[in-house]
Amino acid sequence: MGMERYLSQVAVREIFPSGQKKIESASVVVIGMGGTGSSIAEMMVRMGVKDIKIVDDDIIEDSNLNRQAMYKESDIGLKKVDVAKAELLKINEDANVDSIDQRLTFGNAEGILANSTLIMDGTDNYNARSVINAVSYKLKIPWVFTAVEGTFGYVKAIIPGKTSCLSCFGYPDKGEGVSCTIQGVLPSAVKAISSIAVTTAMKIILGNEKSGDLVYIDAWTPRMEALPIPRNEYCNVCGERKDKDA
Ligand SMILES: [Zn+2]
Repeated sequence: MGMERYLSQVAVREIFPSGQKKIESASVVVIGMGGTGSSIAEMMVRMGVKDIKIVDDDIIEDSNLNRQAMYKESDIGLKKVDVAKAELLKINEDANVDSIDQRLTFGNAEGILANSTLIMDGTDNYNARSVINAVSYKLKIPWVFTAVEGTFGYVKAIIPGKTSCLSCFGYPDKGEGVSCTIQGVLPSAVKAISSIAVTTAMKIILGNEKSGDLVYIDAWTPRMEALPIPRNEYCNVCGERKDKDA
């Protein structure tokens, strides 16, 4: 595989060959291999990310196939990380794909996330995102928050010490286990959110993400808006005055 693969993207002035080198030396962890996570992982490996760790403990079900494009009918019953790893290696056989058959918890997060340069959130619950938020702040690793609900969703860059974090704006806790089947999710909205998440990831890798705006995307209306989220000095994760009373 030569540089031919990347000719069309290095021609984009936002990337250039210098940016491509940074993409190829990034070390990315994708938490969750559902619709969002598997789309993100696929796009990133296609764009040249060579070192990628994928984390999920789920099995592929029929109800995943409408939106989780990594998987096929013949994969039903298999582990998501196993199928995803095989598929990612078909895209780039030189990639280093590390599959972790676990659910991210406070107990295992530091071991899984340490030494990565970027964390991508492909989870579907607040508990996992709280773990990512706290541990990424502790380890000083940037991450990209994503959420999809119905026809809309959110993407936000969270860069420790630079931008606001997830706790700064009190992202609502809807509890664990509210699955896509119950709350509903439009497959094309998952793709829209995944695309903006990968774009945000590339901006972080290239050092171009400064704002940490919360990007709201509604695939149906359609509408996209960047909402500024200031840092909260009383934030219980990243605030400089977190131990003081507000
Ligand atoms: Zn914060």
